[in-house]
Amino acid sequence: MAMPFEFSTAARILFGEGKLREAPAAAAAMGRRALLVTGVPPELAAPLVAGLEAAGVACLPLPVAGEPTIEMVRRGNEYARAERCDLVIGMGGGSAMDAGKALAAMLANPGDPLDYLEVIGRGQLLKQPSAPFIAIPTTSGTGSEVTRNAVLASPQHRVKASLRGSSMLPRLAVVDPELTLGLPPDVTASTGLDALTQLIEPYVGLRANPMTDLFCVEGVRRAASALPRVWEDGGDRQARTDMAWASLLGGLALANAGLGAVHGFAAPVGGMFPAPHGAACAALLPHAIAVNIQALRARAPASQALGRYAEVARLLTGRSHATAEDAVSWTSEICKRLEIPPLRAYGVAESDIPGLVEKAAQASSMKGNPIVLTPQELRQIIERAI
Ligand SMILES: [Zn+2]
Repeated sequence: MAMPFEFSTAARILFGEGKLREAPAAAAAMGRRALLVTGVPPELAAPLVAGLEAAGVACLPLPVAGEPTIEMVRRGNEYARAERCDLVIGMGGGSAMDAGKALAAMLANPGDPLDYLEVIGRGQLLKQPSAPFIAIPTTSGTGSEVTRNAVLASPQHRVKASLRGSSMLPRLAVVDPELTLGLPPDVTASTGLDALTQLIEPYVGLRANPMTDLFCVEGVRRAASALPRVWEDGGDRQARTDMAWASLLGGLALANAGLGAVHGFAAPVGGMFPAPHGAACAALLPHAIAVNIQALRARAPASQALGRYAEVARLLTGRSHATAEDAVSWTSEICKRLEIPPLRAYGVAESDIPGLVEKAAQASSMKGNPIVLTPQELRQIIERAI
C-alpha cells in the first residue's frame, strides 16, 4: 500500500435519483452558451435542454454516435468555437463524456488534438485549464465523470490513446441513476462488468492507496449484489442506484490508483476491433484474474496482492473462507449468467494474439498490474478470452 498518497477528483459531485434537475442552475453559474455533447436519444436529454434554456443557458447540441475519434473532436472544436461556447456538457456513456471532456480541453487550448495526444500524438502538456465541463453519465460503467483523461480512437492507426491533464477533471459530475433505468440488458451487463473491473484492478494493483481501498471494498460488495438484480430487472431502482454508486467509486479509484491487465488488453482490442469497451473488459476479467494469481503464486508468493484477491473473493461471494481462486470462479459465472460473448464475437482471431500481446505489454494500464506478466502469461489471458 502506497502511503503517503495524492487524491483528486471532480470539483463537485451530485449523486442520487432526480439530481439531474439541479444541473441547469449549476451550469448557469459556469457559462451562457453550452456545447451539449450527447450520446443518448433526444428524449432523454430533453428535460436537461428545457432546464438549461429556462436557466438562461443556450444549448448547442452535438450528438455523437459511437466512441470519439480525433476527427470528431476536430470538427466539434470548430463548431464550439464558431458558436462561441463557454461551457461543455457531456451526457451519455463513456463515449459522450470523453468526447465532451476532450472538447472542453481543446476549447481552451490552441492547436490540434494530435498536439496533446499520448502515444500517437506529440504528447504536449495542456497549458490552459479546460473550459468548464459537466459530466452526466447515463450508464453505470466508465466512471469517466471523475477521471482526468479522454480516450480517443484513431481509426487510421487502429489504436486508442488518451488526452490527459489534471485540469481535465470535470467541474461537476451529476450521477442520476434514473437516467440508467432504460438501458438494454446487454449494455447493463457490459458496463456493469466494466465497473466491477474498475473496482478490482485498482484494489489489487501496485498504486492502491488507503483512500481508494475504501472505495473499492464498498464498490465490489455493492456491485456483486446489484449486478444479478439489475440484469433480472432493469427497472429495479435500488439495484440501478447501487450500480451507479459502484461505477462512481470505480472511477474515483482508477483515476487515482490506475488499472491493470484487463485494461491493458482492452485498449488494443478496442482500437483494432468493434468491441465496446465494457464488453472487452468483461470477456477478459476472469482470465486476467486467474493468470495474475497463478503468476503471483509462482514468482511473488509473499505479495500482498494475493491477500487482496482473497478479500475480493470474500466480497464477491459473501463467504468468509473464500480463497483468491474463488474470485476467478465468481467472475466466470457472472459473465456466463450475463451472457458476455467471447472476443471472437467481435472478430478477434488466433492470428491477432501476437500483436495484441505486444501492444498490451506497452499499454499504460499494464503498469498498475500487481506483477509484471511474461509474454506467455499475457498470451494465456487473451487466448482464453477469445
Ligand atoms: Zn474500463
